[in-house]
Amino acid sequence: MSEMLLEVQGLNAFYGDAQALFNVSLQLRAGEVVGVLGANGAGKSTLMKSLTGLVAVDKGAIRLRQQPIGGMPPGEIVKHGVALVPEGRRLFPSMTVEENLMMGGYSKRPGRWNKHAIFELFPILEEKRSQPATSLSGGQQQMVAIGRALMSNPDVLLCDEISLGLAPVVIKDIYESLPDICSDGMSVVVVEQDVIVAQQCSARLYCLQEGRVSLEGTSDALTRDQISEAYFGI
Ligand code: ATP
Repeated sequence: MSEMLLEVQGLNAFYGDAQALFNVSLQLRAGEVVGVLGANGAGKSTLMKSLTGLVAVDKGAIRLRQQPIGGMPPGEIVKHGVALVPEGRRLFPSMTVEENLMMGGYSKRPGRWNKHAIFELFPILEEKRSQPATSLSGGQQQMVAIGRALMSNPDVLLCDEISLGLAPVVIKDIYESLPDICSDGMSVVVVEQDVIVAQQCSARLYCLQEGRVSLEGTSDALTRDQISEAYFGI
């Protein structure tokens, strides 16, 4: 079994007085793709933001290679090797494709990802490198967002609903890039509302319901009924 990379234990998170995560635990090994499923408001984005220092962690532990990173500022967490592809992409609208990618390399760690490697992964981005990023199609913008996160050479890539609003054929293209991304031991957390997409691309799944882990297991062992119950509570 590969090395344990990221360990989340008993995490609680709040927005003001409202608790969004309750005792959430999750594990990620080197080279693994893990899915996090859940309905709107289940706490998926909050979990991703907690892991990247964007939401304060109230209780519990986040360890990267056994080193605590919970409570570090976002820039420090990137330097330690965790990068987020945020929900809604959040590209810099006034910048070109290439400039957006370069912004992701601001806290660059050593590794194989640079703009040339991103252009090899997503050739269309090289063709459109000088265009404003937000003039691209939704799928291409998502490639820019993934490329920008890869530019820091993370060990853990967190992808928050990268399929949202995209056509099935585009979703397929984007998810087909995951094996290449993981080929040198990088691990990926895929946050999804789409059960089929998550089950196809992830070795293991976690379901969140109302801020709690309602189910976890290997993707091929979990049945659709189990997932539906854990996802919708029905
Ligand atoms: P979605 O799929 O709609 O993005 P999600 O599973 O990512 O949903 P979160 O965005 O993490 O869910 O939200 C979890 C809970 O926290 C929800 O009840 C939501 O209303 C609340 N919440 C999220 N962001 C904030 C915020 N900035 N301020 C207050 N409450 C928030």
